[in-house]
Amino acid sequence: MHRWLKAHLKTTFPALFIDDALEISIGNGWVPLLHRLCFALTRLDCPVAFGQIKEKFGGLRAYLVGEQAAAYELEGHAELESDLVCEQCGEDGRAALDGPGGLWLLTLCVDCLDAGSTDGRQRVWDVGEDSA
Ligand SMILES: [Zn+2]
Repeated sequence: MHRWLKAHLKTTFPALFIDDALEISIGNGWVPLLHRLCFALTRLDCPVAFGQIKEKFGGLRAYLVGEQAAAYELEGHAELESDLVCEQCGEDGRAALDGPGGLWLLTLCVDCLDAGSTDGRQRVWDVGEDSA
């Protein structure tokens, strides 16, 4: 994620970004999704903040600090939505495999899958075990 986008989120939603050392390790394509999550969390008017924001198993993970079930529900919705959005550009995405032997699960669009396959790596769609 571009450092200016991080700064913008931290400035716009200071209550959610109380940890100055918080790492946000996601692609720019998920920024609108994260922005909507931040907006929804601030509307809850409850004391929650981000503990970590990253990509895991191809999806957005925005770990929260605080005890609010509604906040965790919102984070769960964002997590599910991220499975359908390209992490790199924000277009419609789906599960893909990257790295030697398909080690890493990513969520990508067609263009980003093709672009990532040209630099010596092979990216392929994750067809799942049931479709093999
Ligand atoms: Zn893309």
